[in-house]
Amino acid sequence: MGIPLPKTNADTQPYWDAAAEGRLIYQHCLTCNKSQFYPRSLCATCHGGALEWRESQGQGTVATFTEVLRAPTAAFKELAPYVIALIDLDEGFRMMVNIVEGDMERLAIGARTRTVFREVDGITLPQGALA
Ligand SMILES: [Zn+2]
Repeated sequence: MGIPLPKTNADTQPYWDAAAEGRLIYQHCLTCNKSQFYPRSLCATCHGGALEWRESQGQGTVATFTEVLRAPTAAFKELAPYVIALIDLDEGFRMMVNIVEGDMERLAIGARTRTVFREVDGITLPQGALA
């Protein structure tokens, strides 16, 4: 049994298409100038619909993290232990990723990360690597 994978919809399809090409994109609101993630049809800040897709350089900073020692469900058992982190990307949005690469000794709040892409069961997932 594989891990549960994200479902795509019309709002998120461009994001998954970009990820499949090894690109990280996010939405930027032209009305209030905020960036947001995950993708939605309206701006989470001003509720406007003037959203533009922009490409992220994939560089960010660890805002917080947790190490999962015991998998929450059987599907995640083979992966444990693994690290889940909230990353503040330099373009002003926050993503939850697994840290899948890099020197784990350097894992800390404020550590720099870059984005790497991992294919799982046909879906490319943006993930984090310690820079
Ligand atoms: Zn807005």
